[in-house]
Amino acid sequence: MVTAALFLCLGIVSSAQQSYPEGKEVFKNSDVVFRQIDEHTWVGTGNLVYNESLYLVEGTDKAVLIDAGTKIKGLDGIVAAITKKPVIMVATHVHGDHTGSSIDRFPEIYINPGDTVLIPQVMPGYKGKIRYLADGEEIDLGDRKLEVVFTPGHTPGSTSFIDKDAGYGFSGDSFGSGNLLLSMNFSTLISTCEKMSAIMQKYGIKNLFPGHYYGNNPETKQRVDDMVTLSKDVLTGKVKGVENPDGGMGLNLVISDYGVRINYNKKAIN
Ligand SMILES: [Zn+2]
Repeated sequence: MVTAALFLCLGIVSSAQQSYPEGKEVFKNSDVVFRQIDEHTWVGTGNLVYNESLYLVEGTDKAVLIDAGTKIKGLDGIVAAITKKPVIMVATHVHGDHTGSSIDRFPEIYINPGDTVLIPQVMPGYKGKIRYLADGEEIDLGDRKLEVVFTPGHTPGSTSFIDKDAGYGFSGDSFGSGNLLLSMNFSTLISTCEKMSAIMQKYGIKNLFPGHYYGNNPETKQRVDDMVTLSKDVLTGKVKGVENPDGGMGLNLVISDYGVRINYNKKAIN
């Protein structure tokens, strides 16, 4: 069973253009298109929830699949046609457009324990094993490593994965692709953004590939920093959110400035 709330990873932005990252197309069917980002990295774009995106990241020993989209039939086979390496399934967070029924073909999935609370609602039928990520751990793929960075805010267990050598990462909905749905409070979001901003600065991370595309819109350090500024403006009362009739997940207020948009509930100001 699928509840409507699961598909509210991003609010409604009616004027936004939907798009996808550029790259050579390597697979296409009615559920998903996979494009090559660089030699050993691919993005899959679904078509059910604002270009919900999954990423396949390959090293010399194994590969990780970051997110599984909503409903991509035979996803394990599709992925196996792109990489010959064994694939580990990880999730940026537990929402139906990232850990949808497509996960059923995978025997285990790694998540942030913070999102355990969402499992009964989002993945009630999952028969595989749920395993847990740790903040700061490295996923070693052979010649390539991904650092796990917990980035709560969108959900309690939202997580990003950073490839320091490549200078990019994967952030799911943690920074909202320009339209963040904040299910936690602003203080949590500020901590998350300050933590990520410092990591991006230290390791020269230029982009974070997001969970959805309204355009060719990877997250930047500037956007992460702008999110901090806007959150602080809300907490100090400098700006006030307006009513957000379309806000899902009980997020009935919205604030926009500095080119970012945050949907939230009044309880987020505490
Ligand atoms: Zn989400």
